[in-house]
Amino acid sequence: MKVTVIGLGLIGGSMAITLRKEGVATELFGVDRNEANAAKAVELQIVDKILPENEALSKSDFVIVSIPVNATAALLPSVLDAVSDHTVVIDVGSTKNLISKAMTNHPKRMQFVASHPIAGTEYSGPTAAFHGLFEGKTNIVCEREKSSERALATALKVFDALKLNTIYMEPQEHDKHVAYISHLSHVSSFLLGQTVLDIEKDEKNIFDLAGSGFASTVRLAKSSPDMWAPIFEQNAEYLGQALTEYIMHLQKFQYLLMKKDSQAIHKIMTQANDIKRVLKN
Ligand code: NAP
Repeated sequence: MKVTVIGLGLIGGSMAITLRKEGVATELFGVDRNEANAAKAVELQIVDKILPENEALSKSDFVIVSIPVNATAALLPSVLDAVSDHTVVIDVGSTKNLISKAMTNHPKRMQFVASHPIAGTEYSGPTAAFHGLFEGKTNIVCEREKSSERALATALKVFDALKLNTIYMEPQEHDKHVAYISHLSHVSSFLLGQTVLDIEKDEKNIFDLAGSGFASTVRLAKSSPDMWAPIFEQNAEYLGQALTEYIMHLQKFQYLLMKKDSQAIHKIMTQANDIKRVLKN
């Protein structure tokens, strides 16, 4: 089928690469506001050509909207307006509540499938895209009953080709879970990076002394603020609750540390070790 990808970055680009390799996409059109990224995506053969948005949409059987979540909510209604009656549209946004609301009363809502593949890296743009990013990862589809059976079946064919395991959730439930599991980790990593940069004024010290523990914990602080600021804004309520609980744990730890209560600190870490069982590695 003919596929348009709006947003030729890590997620959209990786989907395009795999869909071509798996024979699902026979022709790939790209749309991106960033001309350098658009040119790079053609150079890397991620897409066949860059087309004006409406021309790409009118020629496509399947459309992937892969731009920051604020832009996704703003653009999706006009994307649905422009596509033919048989075209299926998905988004891949990391928040689902506002995006789902933006589509609620659209006359072509049935042609849209709201999705979030839980896969990524800290890198952005078409050069970060690669085949296999989604393999074995979870994909969350929201409000499945609002998509037609045909749209859902077409989207599932695409998700299967990407080797994603699709599960279903309501948008509020999705946003609450990802606030704890994904968004809180990013806040914590951004602020760890900032704390160390503030205190260690000598960059050489950070470079020389950073062991793999620091590097792996601070990895997410390399992520794009352009992508993450709108995610935090859209999920502020649930992320705020998650932060309250996290800060409470940090304060308790600090209190026990000052009290030199090693036994209590040991107990907290033993409890936290249970994450090994949950993540099985
Ligand atoms: P990315 O690598 O930064 O790529 C996004 C591309 O879209 C950039 O070329 C960007 O241009 C362009 N763009 C931005 N606004 C646009 C607009 N209004 N119209 C057309 N193009 C536009 O981003 P990404 O990491 O692939 O993320 C894309 C989506 O995937 C987001 O909704 C994100 O929430 C979701 N997601 C991300 C991850 C992850 O870990 N990265 C995981 C799961 C889901 P500029 O460079 O000029 O901004």
